[in-house]
Amino acid sequence: LAKKNRLEHFAFYNPEMEDQMQWRLNMIRQLRNDFAANCLELWYQPQLSLDTGKVIGAEALLRWRTSDGNYVSPAVFIPLAEYSGLIIEIGDWVVAQACQQLKRLEQDFADISISVNVSIPQFRRDDFVDTVIDTMKSHQIRPSKLELEITENILMDDPQLVVDALIKLKAEGISIALDDFGTGYSSLSYLQKLPLDRLKVDRAFVTDIHKEGQSVLAETIINLGKKMNLKIIAEGIEEIEQQERLIELGCDEVQGFYYAKPMPEADFVAFLKQNH
Ligand code: C2E
Ligand code: MG
Ligand code: MG
Ligand code: MG
Repeated sequence: LAKKNRLEHFAFYNPEMEDQMQWRLNMIRQLRNDFAANCLELWYQPQLSLDTGKVIGAEALLRWRTSDGNYVSPAVFIPLAEYSGLIIEIGDWVVAQACQQLKRLEQDFADISISVNVSIPQFRRDDFVDTVIDTMKSHQIRPSKLELEITENILMDDPQLVVDALIKLKAEGISIALDDFGTGYSSLSYLQKLPLDRLKVDRAFVTDIHKEGQSVLAETIINLGKKMNLKIIAEGIEEIEQQERLIELGCDEVQGFYYAKPMPEADFVAFLKQNH
């Protein structure tokens, strides 16, 4: 046992891990600099109604292009932003950008809504709710046009804190969606405590939905959401066969590469003009 412990002790100091830590710290430093230099972008992926085929809104997704011109995937930098706490400042910026965008769209596209993703560290800050409400009010947008996307993992460490925050935001009229539903670790019982408007069916349940016997989970999630009076939006539609099955299952809305990839603001406005 002593020998094993010693080995573990040495394993902790292995140079590869030190390299990894160094790499992470470098990335965080670079992200902090690029954020300060205004080099983050907010892109928009259209969401469409299955009834009308028209665009009803967009999900705002962060993009980070480093000085060498390459994009770093959010799957890589969002966890680093969360780990370092940078996500708090970046998250404020995302909400403000989305509100500005809603304001610009108000004239021609008053019914369009924008969803932003929020992470756990943002909820841990006690002025999160007030900051979102202040930002929304100062831009004078219709509150229901701003939607916050949370994942069930957000409920893991302090569920009551999150539930209370969401109830306050909801009382101001802000919309709430549950993202990546069915892929996290939370208990179903929280579904009833959250003031939700929409349920997002994760891409994991959509990929094979058009194949024989592969749609049972998607069907169950859609039925559950409908029983709770939630709008159902499916993510990650890449093929028309998936859309056809989702229509059969009674899904309301869709988002995926089949319709449009996330795109810069100007492209999204052009897309809206053609599909509204
Ligand atoms: P998410 O919120 O589940 O966002 C959906 C992701 O699926 C996006 O990846 C989008 O580009 C991708 N996607 C959409 N349709 C398709 C499709 O048809 N096929 C495939 N293969 N992928 C599709 P993206 O932009 O790389 O973002 C990844 C994750 O990073 C997001 O997952 C979200 O959790 C996080 N993220 C992005 N922006 C923000 C942000 O502003 N704040 C926070 N906290 N997280 C963010
Ligand atoms: Mg999302
Ligand atoms: Mg999602
Ligand atoms: Mg997802």
